[in-house]
Amino acid sequence: MKRIFYKNVHYKTVTIATRGEGVSRTSLLVIYTGGTLGMVFDEKERHLVPFDFEQILEKIPELNEFEFSLTVISFNQLIDSANVTPAHWVALATLIEENYHRFDGFVIIHGTDTMAHSASALSFLLENLNKPVIFTGAQLPIGAVRTDARENLISALEIASARKDGRPMVTEVCIVFNNKLLRGCRAKKVESAQFAAFDSANYPPLAECGTRIVFNPLVIKPYQPFSDLRVYKKMDTRVAILRLFPGIDENTVRAILQIPDLQGLVLETYGSGNAPTRSWFIQALQEGIERGLHVLNVSQCIGGTVLQGRYETSKALSQIGVIGGADITTEAAITKMMYLLANVESHAEVAKALGKSIRGEMT
Ligand code: ASP
Repeated sequence: MKRIFYKNVHYKTVTIATRGEGVSRTSLLVIYTGGTLGMVFDEKERHLVPFDFEQILEKIPELNEFEFSLTVISFNQLIDSANVTPAHWVALATLIEENYHRFDGFVIIHGTDTMAHSASALSFLLENLNKPVIFTGAQLPIGAVRTDARENLISALEIASARKDGRPMVTEVCIVFNNKLLRGCRAKKVESAQFAAFDSANYPPLAECGTRIVFNPLVIKPYQPFSDLRVYKKMDTRVAILRLFPGIDENTVRAILQIPDLQGLVLETYGSGNAPTRSWFIQALQEGIERGLHVLNVSQCIGGTVLQGRYETSKALSQIGVIGGADITTEAAITKMMYLLANVESHAEVAKALGKSIRGEMT
């Protein structure tokens, strides 16, 4: 075990002895950030504490049997994913960049609460990705009797190592959870108690894990032999989300729109993108857009798509320049905005990119 340092963040590296050690053609890097999966019950303290990844073989002895080699980088300060910030996303993107050519695939162990945000963010930060980056976590800690941690982690490792004709089966950022492989920038946490914590209502699973893992190559981003990974390291947090509800007050809407230096707003509307037609509401939005604010219309529904202009209640939004977000999730919308605002210079280019798919995040 050795300690390595990346820009003042401490990591601990552990190499796990598997059957593939030394002879394996596939090598995986696991990045352990925290979350429920890695918790164990501390008998003395009587509460859950993060476990040391060096003990992983005690918890999942099956790892010994794997044909691939396994290296684990563990954040020294393990976090509940409620504490994730864009700085963590940049740290993860940097770790993947620095290790991209040494490993065939990457597995990120992450808390479930903001996993969909992190997977979306990484999809945007890693352009031209040609290797699997698989997020996973668990609803129950690895030490619990009925834990889902074992199954989720094993599925994530198998998927990250899956290859066909010498190429990875998966070339995108994904989430594997409860036997489903979902596109990261399409996924959403939908459940806090049942094992099926994630869903992607607007995009089919990329694979299903039963007695064997069945991939659906038709919906997986194709491997691109001549494209080089490009990693972005900036996110702009001058963004906000405004979720509508009947009775929302003018002062509330104006307070958000008048946040100093606000650059992007995700507007969570009803159904297929509908919003109140009251003049103060439309006018407040219009003033923001005229000042240069990007407003992206995203539905509060889990499934379906925004169709601005379908109803009278969304026509005015199109007319004042609100951008239709089609079937994007809020998690993908807000991280896409942070990414575009930080990395694309021109206002017109940001607006154009918000209205179309850049990583498969919308249809
Ligand atoms: N609060 C935890 C987290 O997101 C929940 C989990 O891991 O499932 O880190």
